[in-house]
Amino acid sequence: MKALVAVKRVIDYNVKVRVKADNSDVDLANTKMSINPFCEIAVEEAVRLKEAGVVSEIVVVSIGDKSCQEQMRYAMALGADRGVQVEAEGKLNSLDVARILAKVNESENAGIFILGKQAIDSDNNQTGQMLAALLDVPQATFASEVKIADGKAQVTREVDGGLVTVEMDLPAVITTDLRLNEPRFAALPKIMQAKRKPLDVKTLADLGVELTNSVELISVETPAERSGGIKVDSVDALLDKLRNEAQVI
Ligand code: AMP
Repeated sequence: MKALVAVKRVIDYNVKVRVKADNSDVDLANTKMSINPFCEIAVEEAVRLKEAGVVSEIVVVSIGDKSCQEQMRYAMALGADRGVQVEAEGKLNSLDVARILAKVNESENAGIFILGKQAIDSDNNQTGQMLAALLDVPQATFASEVKIADGKAQVTREVDGGLVTVEMDLPAVITTDLRLNEPRFAALPKIMQAKRKPLDVKTLADLGVELTNSVELISVETPAERSGGIKVDSVDALLDKLRNEAQVI
């Protein structure tokens, strides 16, 4: 069974995000970029499934400009077998990403699709769900445990009230939550080997996809500075401040 794993290049999670002076977008100049953490977990899960003999090939797909090849190579260093980059410039909305992934799958016929639950730059949390709908296959989002046997996936999902376990037929879409696994460290020899793994580049025209560009970014603002807190001496003083200063009770 083939696993198709979608990986996105995003601003590194350790970076303090800056906004451009004209508020038009986040400033990415001279900023460290990385694989989206949830996508890294998705790659790790696919590699574990391959090591367990469940998956035979792992294909990573990334949609973006040439720079996303860096994160695809990283995914290959973790253990993915090959990559498909779909060239696209600028910001993409989730539906377009899902449409492109579905098109890529027309020639891949994957048995399992593993995506991050969300990209930490746009925080959409939509692509996996939309992909499942377009492919008309079952989905299990926010996975914290995945077991595959007899053509079925048993997935434990993190939900508001705790954990819920679902079983679904394959092919299916799984999106990863933080506790699913702890990604391995990419060792130097693996990084070197990854440079020689196949990486196909396709255009949107090759796939016959036209972007809808249905979401327009109007402006980006930095969050308001938080003012420092104070310590109060008693519960009465706290109640007084909540009642008379904050006026929340
Ligand atoms: P989102 O719905 O945008 O929060 O993204 C959820 C997941 O969809 C990500 O963790 C990736 O697995 C996948 N994804 C989103 N954008 C891209 C992209 N440009 N290229 C590849 N995968 C993507």
